[in-house]
Amino acid sequence: MVFPLSSIKDFKITIGDEHELFRKTVRKFVEEDLEPIADKIEKNNEIPMEVLHKAKELGFMGIGIPEEYGGQGGDNIMMAIMTEELARVSPAFAIAVAINYVFTIPVLLFGTEEQKRKYITPIASGKSFGAHANTEPVAGSDVAGIQSEAKSYRDIYVLTGRKTLITGADKADFFLVSARTNPPGEKRWWGITLFIIEKGFEGFKIGQRINTMGMRGEQPYELILDDVKVPKNNVLGDQDEGFKYLLTTYDHTRIAVAAQAVGIAQGAFEKALKYSRERHAFGRPIIKFQGVSFKISDILMELEAARLLTYWAATLADAKNQNYIIASSLAKAYATEAAEKAALLSIKVHGGYGVDSEVGVEKYLRDAVITTIYEGTNDIQRLTIARILEKRT
Ligand SMILES: Cc1cc2nc3c(=O)[nH]c(=O)nc-3n(C[C@H](O)[C@H](O)[C@H](O)COP(=O)(O)OP(=O)(O)OC[C@H]3O[C@@H](n4cnc5c(N)ncnc54)[C@H](O)[C@@H]3O)c2cc1C
Repeated sequence: MVFPLSSIKDFKITIGDEHELFRKTVRKFVEEDLEPIADKIEKNNEIPMEVLHKAKELGFMGIGIPEEYGGQGGDNIMMAIMTEELARVSPAFAIAVAINYVFTIPVLLFGTEEQKRKYITPIASGKSFGAHANTEPVAGSDVAGIQSEAKSYRDIYVLTGRKTLITGADKADFFLVSARTNPPGEKRWWGITLFIIEKGFEGFKIGQRINTMGMRGEQPYELILDDVKVPKNNVLGDQDEGFKYLLTTYDHTRIAVAAQAVGIAQGAFEKALKYSRERHAFGRPIIKFQGVSFKISDILMELEAARLLTYWAATLADAKNQNYIIASSLAKAYATEAAEKAALLSIKVHGGYGVDSEVGVEKYLRDAVITTIYEGTNDIQRLTIARILEKRT
């Protein structure tokens, strides 16, 4: 295999019948329960709880969580397929389910047995939700630049600060929150610690909702840390080492964002193809015009390339092959930009109807833009890719 890969094992997608069977289960839920209310989610900017309950009953919240913690098991490909299928119709609903990963993945990777039993098990059953709070008004990409502080006392830490743009904060029972326990050392990233905060902890408040251009139905919130008392048992991993845990978390979770983008591109593609066959101009279906047909072909090129990269990254992560880090950055940046292009082209294929919010195409563009920003902007993905390449021989 050629540089930067070294073995054929690095260049593989493992997807089986069980994955496609699972896709059918998700698709059935989407067609019966999600599609009929997708417009309502968009208009009311709210996800009806009964649809989330149905997803819980089907076990979707437990995908990717080992059976010993009450989950369904399942690998990264399965998580990607579920996110993709949900996003095809409602990218906001997809993130409402997938947002748990930014809590469950770090706790599963770095948590104690007690933390896993206490916090993962209720999320796996859908009884509780998790959220992840790193971003602050002064620091997003610059994870080491956070200013929230945690002061250590005998049995507790006391946290003060502000977080912003926190997805799922309205529904979450448990939050993974970063704060500085020490000023930066020789290494700027050192001194950050991760804490598991329960929504009822004294001093912890949900702030105002932030209205974003897309993901209507799943809008992020501000969080206020006003002398929040956190028991020492609720530290994730080692004190001061939180930055490393955050980066490893995002290495995994950006595969889900890539999958969300694949779903957006799939939705935009299907709508463009259908419309181009049905809409007539100058006495023929518009797909007969080369200008339109090339747009459809371009959407499919972007979509399938994005899907291949995403499933590749998921396969490498499942195989614990360290190339998953570069692959997940490639997949996240490519797929989210593919989704933007696909959505824009789909709007153009629809002509004037494309910009009519009732038609349900323009939302894909508004949602796609957000996927290029969260879980590390695509600039940060390009940095990650380049940093790996700098060192690789
Ligand atoms: C809808 C939504 C939901 C979100 N949900 C969550 C959540 O649940 N939890 C959470 O913690 N965060 C969440 N975020 C925050 C998100 O992760 C950050 O917005 C993102 O990491 C970018 O940080 P920033 O907004 O501070 O932008 P900045 O970091 O200030 O970046 C501004 C611009 O500068 C560029 N830039 C910055 N540094 C570099 C660099 N070194 N090289 C090149 N370019 C650079 C960026 O790419 C960007 O274009 C969410 C964001 C959105 C929009």
